[in-house]
Amino acid sequence: MFMRWSRSSQIVGLMRFVHETLAQRVRFATGSARGQLTDEIEQSAFRRPMVISTRGQREVAEEVCGDVSVGVWHHDVAMHVPIHLAERARSVAGNERVDSVIAVGGGSTVGLAKAVALTTSLPIVAIPTTYAGSEATNVWGITENGQKMTGSDARVLPQAVILDAELTVSLPVDLAMASGLNALAHCIDSMWAPRADPINASLALEGMRALRAGLPQVKADPSSLQGHEETLFGAYLAAVAFASAGSGLHHKICHVLGGMFDLPHAQTHAVVLPHVLALNGAAAPTVQARIGQALGSTSADEGLAELRRALQAPSALRDLGMPESGIVRAAQTLESLIPPSNPATLSGDELRALLRACWEGIGQS
Ligand code: NAD
Repeated sequence: MFMRWSRSSQIVGLMRFVHETLAQRVRFATGSARGQLTDEIEQSAFRRPMVISTRGQREVAEEVCGDVSVGVWHHDVAMHVPIHLAERARSVAGNERVDSVIAVGGGSTVGLAKAVALTTSLPIVAIPTTYAGSEATNVWGITENGQKMTGSDARVLPQAVILDAELTVSLPVDLAMASGLNALAHCIDSMWAPRADPINASLALEGMRALRAGLPQVKADPSSLQGHEETLFGAYLAAVAFASAGSGLHHKICHVLGGMFDLPHAQTHAVVLPHVLALNGAAAPTVQARIGQALGSTSADEGLAELRRALQAPSALRDLGMPESGIVRAAQTLESLIPPSNPATLSGDELRALLRACWEGIGQS
């Protein structure tokens, strides 16, 4: 039986839930992204795809798309999808009469492809090169005037995802660790997000196990294909769980901070996660125990702290460029965004205290 928490921390209810599984083809094939993409393009009869990648990943994109007849290459990508870049990419897609979008890159690249799909309904093939997990969700995000707007729409869910661990080996190790913790945040937040259910909890817990196994291997040997493969698998499970469960408190906080202060996405997740886990875990002891078990520890907090020490995770938002004055501003915005499903209740003062702890890195290694 799936044990649900209640605000009073008691186990409530029998198993009853509505779960939606998003339809997507997954091609998991380490070392074979190029061949898998060719198969996908043939199977879908795409004739004129637009390929999106950052300039830094141009060569990787060219290699992966080596057997594809590309309609147009597009490299104007930036974190959190600024509106002007979304509009530029949409007009390129329209002017070039493309019939599909291939995204080769991290969450920012996939995010731009989603912005294009949102207004054009073009199908996306996503080839992720980080552990951000955007490829598994129907969630889009666009930033305008320092505010990140998000929404969910079936048009932005990639029709196919090609997961090739060879493409993550080039990640700088610090970014790989932060990105892996971003994936872990998807798992943990999925345990108490608005649509948390036993199916996405199962995916999330297995995702935690895979990430805990894979990330230390990557840290110890950044060229370890096995470590990258395990991490990429965990990150995909994490993203599928998150896509189903929705955004919990942790994601609300990171989205507000990311949009307001243009903070690096993965690192922000890595910093905020232990604070939200400590807060919510205390209010949901059954869930906390399951997370602890998945992280190989008797306590979720200690399991995460051990992993963060091993990965030398970033610990303070001030080190990522957030101004101290931003604490109050972010707390004001967040007050109305706390999901009703959140196990812990939070006053405005508690929210500010949590953000201050994240900013200062209090209690983190
Ligand atoms: P990113 O895509 O911004 O990439 C960070 C940097 O790493 C970029 O310069 C990129 O070129 C580089 N990079 C990517 N892969 C690399 C590799 N294998 N080797 C070397 N360099 C590489 O970072 P991210 O953390 O993947 O994505 C963050 C964005 O994704 C945020 O805007 C976030 O909101 C979004 N996101 C959206 C969802 C969703 O469901 N919509 C989910 C997760 C993240």
